[in-house]
Amino acid sequence: MSNLKILLDESDIPTHWYNVVADMPNPPAPYLGPNGQPVTPEMMSAIFPPGVLEQEMSAERWIPIPEKVREIYRLWRPSPLYRALPLEQMLDTPAKIYFKYEGVSPAGSHKSNSAVAQVYYNKIAGINRITTETGAGQWGSALSLAGNMFGVTIRVYMVKVSYDQKPMRRTMMQTWGAEVLASPSNLTEAGRQILAQHPDSQGSLGIAIAEAVEEAASRKDTNYTLGSVLNHVLLHQTVIGLETRKQLEKAGDYPDVIFAPCGGGSNVGGMMFPFLADKAAGKNIRLVAVEPTSCPTLTRGKYAYDYGDSAGLTPLMLMYTLGHNFMPPGIHAGGLRYHGDSPLVSQLCQEGLIEAVAVPQVATFEAGVLFARAMGIIPAPESSHAIRAAIDEALRCKQTGETKTILFTLSGHGHFDMSAYEKYLSGELQDLNYPEADLQDSLQHLPNISI
Ligand SMILES: *Cc1c(COP(=O)(O)O)cnc(C)c1O
Repeated sequence: MSNLKILLDESDIPTHWYNVVADMPNPPAPYLGPNGQPVTPEMMSAIFPPGVLEQEMSAERWIPIPEKVREIYRLWRPSPLYRALPLEQMLDTPAKIYFKYEGVSPAGSHKSNSAVAQVYYNKIAGINRITTETGAGQWGSALSLAGNMFGVTIRVYMVKVSYDQKPMRRTMMQTWGAEVLASPSNLTEAGRQILAQHPDSQGSLGIAIAEAVEEAASRKDTNYTLGSVLNHVLLHQTVIGLETRKQLEKAGDYPDVIFAPCGGGSNVGGMMFPFLADKAAGKNIRLVAVEPTSCPTLTRGKYAYDYGDSAGLTPLMLMYTLGHNFMPPGIHAGGLRYHGDSPLVSQLCQEGLIEAVAVPQVATFEAGVLFARAMGIIPAPESSHAIRAAIDEALRCKQTGETKTILFTLSGHGHFDMSAYEKYLSGELQDLNYPEADLQDSLQHLPNISI
């Protein structure tokens, strides 16, 4: 049971992010404005700083990581890669299982990798105030941490239901000095409109995005940030896959299959893109995004142009989508409840380079608990989706006798998700499916843009 943990030196923290656009078989589809014409960087400059916009549009393969950002990464990077020997033994599988653990960041998930970079680019552009939205609270926490490090004021619009149900995440953000508001709030037009119609509204991610964007667009001193989906976010997350490649080299191994949980696609892109060039060059490696059956964007959604928010404020993006009016059931993996997906991940899925599977809620918690008992680490419910898929693959190997190398991202810890674990342990948790009729209804409201 030795050599469980594969570590790197601080000097092994990547010096550059990897931009998959340079190696994609086809260039990414452009973002479109309401008139159907491509959106220019200038049109987004009211809410994003130049450094971020440049990365959003870049086709350069390697993009330098600013020294100041690398310095902060050193607080928790390189993150450990583990060979899950006790889990392999528990499953009695001939497969090898590795996982990259991103829960070691102070905010507890991979989201800090992009939060630090995004706040940095705002800071050097002279922006000292940032708004954002948060659903489950992981992105809000990561951004609050980064804002505190750079002396940038952070205002988080937190979906009201989470604000009430997840007071610990709220307090975490406040501890780092952020201002946290329940959304819908009466501070924005978008919020006031909703409250006028539904005084008891519990909020949604779409409403919170609308509030954060409205405020950033209306104030010169304020910008907006997004924690997933967009190209620059996936770019920042490639430190995960780049480090993992080095760690596996050190272990003398290479994955046959990689799993990552998929909400907006940032840890999928972060882990898988650095392996994608190998795949495109003919290497036999499977890249599998794992999503909930209750929010089955890649497995049951449509590849079409759609808005990123429910209010229709964002540019149109070509992606797999369940429709921007989609109301996901209240599953406990809050970070995976998004109607769309990263345009880059979507396009690579469409082209067959990335695959997707969906797993149901109860089975993911079962996998999460089994993992916690084997490895000690209590996973975030989002991460447990990848664990479920990895375990299923290892059990298939047991049937066939294959000695595959399986790799997955453990995107965060689940220390703030104890009420969800409690529900699972007491047998109250249920599988929630998304009815086909609701899906068809939601897809009827897609903007009419042919591809
Ligand atoms: C937000 C989150 C996810 C899903 O977001 P992606 O952008 O798809 O990576 C997965 N795991 C954790 C722990 C998260 O916080």
